[in-house]
Amino acid sequence: MRPNEFQSFDFAFTHAVIGMALVSFDGTFLKWNSALCTLLGYDHNELLAPSPSVQTLLDQIHEIAELGESLSSMNINPHRFQQDYYQPTGHLLSLEVSVSIISDGNGAPLYYFTQFENKTMIRQMETQLQDAENSLLEKENSFLQLLEGLPLTVVITANGIVQYANSAGLQLIHAESLDQVLGISTTNIVDLSNYAILQERRERYFSGNTIGSVCYLINCLNGQQKYVDGFTLPITFNGNGAFIGIFKDISQQMLEDERLIQSEKLSTAGQLAAGIAHEIRNPLTAINGFMKLIRSSERMNDKYFFIIESELKRIEFIVNELLVLSKPQTTHVSKPVDLLSLLEQVTTLMNGQAALKNLKILPVCADQSIWINGEAYQLKQVFINLLKNAMEAMNSGGNIYIHVLTNESETRISVQDEGCGMTEEQIKALGKPFYTTKETGTGLGFMITQNIVHNHGGWITVESIPEQGTTFTVIIPTILEPEETVM
Ligand code: ADP
Ligand code: MG
Repeated sequence: MRPNEFQSFDFAFTHAVIGMALVSFDGTFLKWNSALCTLLGYDHNELLAPSPSVQTLLDQIHEIAELGESLSSMNINPHRFQQDYYQPTGHLLSLEVSVSIISDGNGAPLYYFTQFENKTMIRQMETQLQDAENSLLEKENSFLQLLEGLPLTVVITANGIVQYANSAGLQLIHAESLDQVLGISTTNIVDLSNYAILQERRERYFSGNTIGSVCYLINCLNGQQKYVDGFTLPITFNGNGAFIGIFKDISQQMLEDERLIQSEKLSTAGQLAAGIAHEIRNPLTAINGFMKLIRSSERMNDKYFFIIESELKRIEFIVNELLVLSKPQTTHVSKPVDLLSLLEQVTTLMNGQAALKNLKILPVCADQSIWINGEAYQLKQVFINLLKNAMEAMNSGGNIYIHVLTNESETRISVQDEGCGMTEEQIKALGKPFYTTKETGTGLGFMITQNIVHNHGGWITVESIPEQGTTFTVIIPTILEPEETVM
């Protein structure tokens, strides 16, 4: 260094904000700045005879410099190391020390030039960061473990494409590995018949509404079809918008429900058989009588044939209804249903039973037709169950009234009996499976009735006074009269 160069080096050395020192090859301070004093926690003069912890630092510098093979052969060759250092106050610092060798003009090494930086804060932050990263990783792992151990299907989709499925999900759709489902579209899993639901849920989400729960029919990889019930929530997955879906396989439950309904239907059909036999006997007696008349009269009488024909039709209708009632229902298709004609068909079917018990079903008189969207056979089941219960509640004759009240949005159909009525407790227990007060009851009728009404977007209310009678009211959404009627 030239003299003025040396002066500016000296100035920089003294006023530097990081600790600097020139250290002899035998490990003593030759020159040091005040930043170093502050850092090490000693006065300027105290460093003339360094404390054991400062001496450890100096020895370390020597050792590192000795080790650095190339240090002696080059003019400046910084070498760095990390060292923990306790200040006299006991405060622990993490120091980063860089060492280089200063040589004279001929290349002969003179002493070490050392710089001491306080990296305590950075180290602390690094440790904290590492800890946070570890705990995040731990959480992610335990979250994944939780998902994997969950008996419910968990599936994550982004833009309708599967990004993840847990092992319950793979089992559900009969996939052997995750690879078989990653990247496939939800439209390949959800059955075509449910696309409208899928689409409607997407639209609901994009218009800012909540999407809630859903029931889907799905196609498994082995071709099997299953019903699943669950819900989806928007989440962020790998930094992008996605959905997490949690589903339960309800195929078995649906089968069991179907079986229950079927057993109740068969029992209803069986119980109605006597009434139906009675109902068929009347037209049969009429037919018999007219046949005798025809045989005895010389002239053929068209009127007789007309009566015979209409009585036969009536028998046919009743027998058909009974068959339909006892047949398992496999398809579920909603269509506009003419409510009044449905009620008329139900009362025709039930009239025989009523007559046997000396009861009268007083049907509705309405001048306009009422349309609801639904499954005719299921809706018939609703009114058969209500009428059957009403008849069973009446032991000494009487009337059963059917009232209909309608507006553009809903219709109320009440079935009012003059029977034994129900106590508060009985009303509370209504709808619980197998709750019955009858010797030969199944306790399923009302539960099924309620399910059907709920599935049609409606509900049922009950009013009852013991010993006076009960009124069940079905409230169901109405639709406008369809242009093309299907019944
Ligand atoms: P079940 O008719 O096989 O007993 P339901 O589910 O149809 O089963 O009815 C459950 C119970 O509710 C009946 O056992 C009866 O105690 C009561 N109940 C239903 N409807 C009436 C009614 N109209 N009047 C009095 N009690 C009724
Ligand atoms: Mg019943």
